[in-house]
Amino acid sequence: MLEESKLLEKLPLKQHLHNIKRVLKLLMSLDQSYIPWNVVAVLLSTALSYGGMILSAYVLNRIAGGFAFAELFQKVILGVVLLSLGGSVLGILNRRIDVKSQMMAESYLALQQEKIMNMDFSMIDSPRLKELRERIRLENNWGAGIFTVFWCGKGVLEAVVRIIGAIVIGIPMFSYFGKEDLGWLWGVLFLLCLFLGIGLKLYRYFQNMEHYVMFHVPTAEEKKFLWNYVWDFAYGSWHYRYGNGKDVRIYNSYEVMKKWTYDKLQGKEFFDYTIKRPGIGSAGSYGIQTALYVLSQIGAYGIVIMAALKGSMPVGSLILYADCLANMMIQATYVVTAGLDLSLAARKQVGILELLELSDEMYKGALPMEKRSDNEYHIAFRNVSFKYPGSEEYALKSFSLEFKVGERLAIVGRNGSGKTTMIKLLCRLYDPDEGEILVNGVDIKKFRHDEYAKLFSVVFQDYVLFSLMLAENIAADKDYDEEMVRRCLADAGFEERLEKLGEKGIESFLYKDYTDEGVEISGGEAQKLAIARAIYKEAPFVLLDEPTAALDPLAEAEIYSNFDKIAGDKTAIYISHRLSSCRFCDKIAVFDKGRLVQTGSHEELLADEGGVYASLWNAQAKYYEAG
Ligand code: ADP
Repeated sequence: MLEESKLLEKLPLKQHLHNIKRVLKLLMSLDQSYIPWNVVAVLLSTALSYGGMILSAYVLNRIAGGFAFAELFQKVILGVVLLSLGGSVLGILNRRIDVKSQMMAESYLALQQEKIMNMDFSMIDSPRLKELRERIRLENNWGAGIFTVFWCGKGVLEAVVRIIGAIVIGIPMFSYFGKEDLGWLWGVLFLLCLFLGIGLKLYRYFQNMEHYVMFHVPTAEEKKFLWNYVWDFAYGSWHYRYGNGKDVRIYNSYEVMKKWTYDKLQGKEFFDYTIKRPGIGSAGSYGIQTALYVLSQIGAYGIVIMAALKGSMPVGSLILYADCLANMMIQATYVVTAGLDLSLAARKQVGILELLELSDEMYKGALPMEKRSDNEYHIAFRNVSFKYPGSEEYALKSFSLEFKVGERLAIVGRNGSGKTTMIKLLCRLYDPDEGEILVNGVDIKKFRHDEYAKLFSVVFQDYVLFSLMLAENIAADKDYDEEMVRRCLADAGFEERLEKLGEKGIESFLYKDYTDEGVEISGGEAQKLAIARAIYKEAPFVLLDEPTAALDPLAEAEIYSNFDKIAGDKTAIYISHRLSSCRFCDKIAVFDKGRLVQTGSHEELLADEGGVYASLWNAQAKYYEAG
């Protein structure tokens, strides 16, 4: 049996109001005129609807009481023209509001992306942000997200304005009641139905919310049953690329995924589980609600008829007042539903608000980075230990190493031995848990973060190129030096491919996300572009994490033979599995299980026959000899 899903914790009214206030404040910051325009639209639409009712009542009253046709005709035409003009204005207004909502929803999304783009990298990876992103995704309400807040907010406003309108128009009706009549009885009945109706709405709402929540706050167990999670796996997150899903096809994984989606979701177990939820089981309350609605309608008409019987109420007024009362009844229950929906919709935005309010945890430093024309930088790791956020295991333990500019340092070791982690710490994507990293004797935390980041050019294993122009990718900027872009591309071995791009050349778009003319590139070509981008940055440190893994042997040899030239007087750190490609480095650091176990030149390390390096080298040598 499925484990019970958690219900949303009940919040005090004050907290709901606070949430609504926070969301409204954010909406105002996105577009100041949005709320005022909505107020105008709601006022106008209410005026038009009551205007129509008043006009009809007037016409009926005049017909019943004898009338001059020409005069009445003129007034009707005038009234209809005014109402239709008002309708047109409302149409234009609503269209503007719709477009504004769309634009605001886009800016809202952009705000989140901008926040994620600018926050500490270590936070992106943290369990807290993971949970927050998950919540935001679930609470996005199948994409309706902030739109639900717009709709519900407008719904509440509209209902309130309509109730006020109905009261104002309905006031004269009460003058028809005599003191001694039984009009109050109808009034009591009307109020009773009204409150019961509202009560029922509240009851149903909380039941429905429980049911609703089941789909929106799934337990880990339930996630297996929800199609979007499983298909995510198939396509690699929401933003699927056509390249993803290859493995699904090759290994025919469709069946196993289907097992966890349709078969389970539509299976008896899930159905039985779902139907027992109170939200679904409360079908009986629909019956009561219908009865209450009919009773309240009878109440509304009864009151008006009573009033009419007491005085001489014209037929048009009778219909108008009955409509007002019925409207009041409907809108009163609606204001409750829309209000509750609004509080839920606002609550569903709290995840995003929390994300937007997150502040960076990493100390950003204040010390200006010394810009040395001689590039004399000396780096030292002193007893550094580090665990990834949320992880129990040390990725790097008591790590110490020194190197200075101009050196070629190679880092080798088995998968998972902490090589990439060391690079990430050096670039301050994370801060060590223990120990310190020094540049020219100063703890790197003290340097201004933005200036410090300029010291490094990195090609990560999982580098990303963007669906932008080739030149913009290389310069990582909208402004670029064409000559330099071409030179870097040539140094990275992309020259030949560039020629094939034809006229557009470095202005060609990568991938087809924004243009059908975008170019597709192979894994090796992409790696060359990533290397070209690292060269373009002209940073004193070049860090290459498995830079040639996707390159063919010829391209690899070309890169390495060029590399001394490319790296020039810069410090280069290479991470590589292929020990043969590290031989040219001045110093080789050997990692094993998060620790630095050996350092030295290739010859020195080989001499230590029982060492990790020798065993890795021998294993690879055998492999190459066999090949
Ligand atoms: P290498 O580069 O030597 O292959 P890494 O430095 O990438 O190894 O990883 C070292 C250890 O840290 C591994 O056990 C890996 O599973 C773990 N690790 C790497 N990245 C993360 C992460 N983002 N969160 C948690 N653990 C991680």
